[in-house]
Amino acid sequence: MVIPEPIQINPLSFSKGTKRVCKLCGKGAKYMCPSCRVVFYCSKEHHKTDYIGVHSIVCSYLAQLRGEPPEITSEAQRKDYEEKMRKIKEKCRAEAVNQASAFLSRQEYVQALPGARLSLSLARELFDPSSPQLVPAYLQVGEAAMGRGYLELAETALASARWIILQHSSVLHTSEPVFSDMDDPKVQALVRLRGKLHRQTGKLHAFQKDFKSAIIETAHDTYLSALSSGGPDSAHTAVAFCHLGNLFLKTGENKKSVKFFDKAAMFLRKALDKTIFDEEEFPLEGGEAAEPRVMLERLAQLQKKNGDKERAGKMFVVLGCLALVTGTPEERGDAYSKTVTGVDILREVLDEDSDDMKWAIRCCEYVKKRCGAR
Ligand SMILES: [Zn+2]
Ligand SMILES: [Zn+2]
Repeated sequence: MVIPEPIQINPLSFSKGTKRVCKLCGKGAKYMCPSCRVVFYCSKEHHKTDYIGVHSIVCSYLAQLRGEPPEITSEAQRKDYEEKMRKIKEKCRAEAVNQASAFLSRQEYVQALPGARLSLSLARELFDPSSPQLVPAYLQVGEAAMGRGYLELAETALASARWIILQHSSVLHTSEPVFSDMDDPKVQALVRLRGKLHRQTGKLHAFQKDFKSAIIETAHDTYLSALSSGGPDSAHTAVAFCHLGNLFLKTGENKKSVKFFDKAAMFLRKALDKTIFDEEEFPLEGGEAAEPRVMLERLAQLQKKNGDKERAGKMFVVLGCLALVTGTPEERGDAYSKTVTGVDILREVLDEDSDDMKWAIRCCEYVKKRCGAR
């Protein structure tokens, strides 16, 4: 990516009372984007971070949104103009969300934060302050801020998300959602958001080393994920179980940790089998599977080292399939070698004609075909 040289500005040249501040940190600005000329930065460094994170994609949209409005002489003209701006805002927001999701799924938090913040500020302009449509934006800001170690910003973002969700809890028939509520897609979407909120809050507590609260929050996530995804053995529940397993690993409760990771691997295998052998759509998006993949990979390496071959072998096969189905192009390139590692390990402990061995070989062949590996 070629990053354009920002233009140096003289802060004194702006009319009184219009102080230009850095888009990333809020400090007094010294530079501006040379193309749109509506976004300002304190340093070349912050210009670069924003440019890579989101600005290269949204520069032309922001030029239209933040630039001088045309002269409007009639009511009809004003309506047309507002409608045009709303459409541009929507497009710009969608781009910012995509950028932030992509960086978050690769756990690149420095680059994820600018997109997350832009999508939040546009969502605030587009929707009512208590609209559930703001929640995903708050959650993205929370996740990216946490990754950067900005715990106060993360806390504020998650508190705002919680406030909105509480306001909408009246759509539920009881204070805690139950299975029959899920017939209503609106309620289901809200319950899923609430699950994600608990997950991020759990992560925040873990960052603050309050593992007890982290486990309680993540347990809520487990329940709500199971509820909103149609059962306790779904891929969504598997993600929540991975987080729970990871927390128990941190508190030294290894037996519990193993139990949750085993369950997660089992549910993921079930969902992957449906995708690979029955051509059903995989229920998780790339970003949702990113953290579990990292956790399970660490675990598989550990199991391999400890000689827990059956577990490690199966885990590598699951990881290979998961990388193929949810990974970035780069990770998909690694998928085949993961399944081969899994099959090799399993060969040491399983009979060639056992069901698990046949499953592993079938997965490996499928991944090979899909990866175009030779
Ligand atoms: Zn700055
Ligand atoms: Zn620009």
